[in-house]
Amino acid sequence: MQIIYSPSVAKPIIGMVPPGGFHFYQGDVRLFADTIEDLRKKVTDFRAENGIPNTTTYTDVNDFICGTYPDFCHHVDEVTINLSHTNWTSSELTADIQVWAKNILSSAREHPLVGDELAEARARICSGCIYNVNWKTGCSSCISATERLSASIRQARDTGSTPALGGCTILRHDNRAAVFMQPEDLAKSSDTPTHCWLNK
Ligand code: SF4
Repeated sequence: MQIIYSPSVAKPIIGMVPPGGFHFYQGDVRLFADTIEDLRKKVTDFRAENGIPNTTTYTDVNDFICGTYPDFCHHVDEVTINLSHTNWTSSELTADIQVWAKNILSSAREHPLVGDELAEARARICSGCIYNVNWKTGCSSCISATERLSASIRQARDTGSTPALGGCTILRHDNRAAVFMQPEDLAKSSDTPTHCWLNK
């Protein structure tokens, strides 16, 4: 996927939360909010309180988000992402995740896990990524079996963002477990978006 970014008309895609949540830097001050509307309001209020003109606040916030995270923006106004892609089905993804998990668990190599803080930071990136999708639909025994394998890989550890984590439609792994793994133990793809933590 290639996104042509045009700063003057770029708009954050509705429903996509940038890595680290909605934020904006006014000088050295980091302003943070749960939604882009709240962020715009916070920036507006902050500027008003500090004698900073508000004439370009709306586009300043958009340009910051789209300049920092171009994959989270579109150059067309009010685009809403529908988390469905034509090149996968949840049953195929479940099957691929199961194979992925079995391969890891049957490997002779050890797979040491990363710390909670790093896993959480990765989980927040995945949770805002369009390639993170729910794979738990269909055959309930397949889902349970795959969940057990995933839990075994991550040694039953979890992040605070776990409810938002699904499978990665590009790398075909379970994000819930993958965020705890070393990058060298995971597949790579040139198709992953620039915001993907595996590209860091
Ligand atoms: S691993 Fe990368 S590409 Fe896959 S869902 Fe997470 S951030 Fe997106």
